[in-house]
Amino acid sequence: MVDASAVGLEHVTRSFGDIAALSDFTLEVPAGTIAMLLGPNGAGKTTAVRVVTGALPVDYGGVRVLGLDPLTDGEEVRRRCGVVPARPALYDRLTGYHNLRYAADLFEVAEPDSAIGAAAERFDITEALGQRVGGYSTGMRARLALARATLHDPDLLLLDEPTAGLDPESSRAVLDLIREMTRGGKTVLMCTHLLLEAEGIADHVVVMDHGRTLVSGSPQELTRRYWTSATVVIDAEEPGDLDRIATMPGITSYQRDGVALVGLDSLDRVADLVGALVRDGVRVTRVEPRMPSLEELYFAVRRASRGGDATVEPETTEGPTAPQRSGATR
Ligand code: ATP
Repeated sequence: MVDASAVGLEHVTRSFGDIAALSDFTLEVPAGTIAMLLGPNGAGKTTAVRVVTGALPVDYGGVRVLGLDPLTDGEEVRRRCGVVPARPALYDRLTGYHNLRYAADLFEVAEPDSAIGAAAERFDITEALGQRVGGYSTGMRARLALARATLHDPDLLLLDEPTAGLDPESSRAVLDLIREMTRGGKTVLMCTHLLLEAEGIADHVVVMDHGRTLVSGSPQELTRRYWTSATVVIDAEEPGDLDRIATMPGITSYQRDGVALVGLDSLDRVADLVGALVRDGVRVTRVEPRMPSLEELYFAVRRASRGGDATVEPETTEGPTAPQRSGATR
């Protein structure tokens, strides 16, 4: 596995009793990108993140994190990772500042006060630093957990539902910050249920179910593979002129609400359709295929996997499964 990968899981299996939380699970996250694990409850997302942090040993398979093995090089991996777990453990009796100070000391941050100031500002928690965390709202706790995870300038951020409990505005701010961090070369692996809020930030999406990868790829690749419906947004100087589209060949639906939303039996029809409009003297100002939201895409993949489309089988990768090590939950 090359070191351009920030995270590499190869054929990882991890069971709890009879439950295979991860089953022959393979994941590669290139450095400097944002990968998002999507899936229903119990799909194995949190287990995957815990394997990466070294909190859970695997039964079988290979794990590399920043070129290191999180079990044998645990200290180095922890120093270079920032983790926001699903339920961040914060010290309620301490102030926000002292929570961050404790973490800064653990990570041996050279200039703790300036690092605390910068992290608190990044996540808009500066004014609450003097208050005890027991009195924080859910959103403030989430933001403090994010500040704590980024305090030591980690190379890899592992985030389990980082926007849970945040209002839409704060969620967007957090996601924008996550995007900003990858511009500086950081890598992010995050789990989420909040598909709409995660829109537009994932470079790579992995849809999981039953501990396996159902499908993975960039949002664009998944759109090409699973978004069969062809819908095009069309606008014109005189939008009423567009209504003639409704009776043209190959049109499966037509709706006009400001712009026209046109369903086609194939995107190949677009050129002919625009040609016909232009011949009729319609001054077309916009023609744009409508891309699915991450949420629509997710449900399209899930529908296909439930038998609507036999082409979706859990993804497997070639190569031998290397038994590696076993161990119990720490
Ligand atoms: P959610 O979205 O609900 O957080 P998830 O995709 O993160 O779910 P995991 O928490 O990884 O899923 O759980 C995967 C499976 O493994 C589930 O069936 C869960 O019950 C089981 N599991 C996970 N951790 C443990 C544990 N410590 N002990 C026993 N079973 C576990």
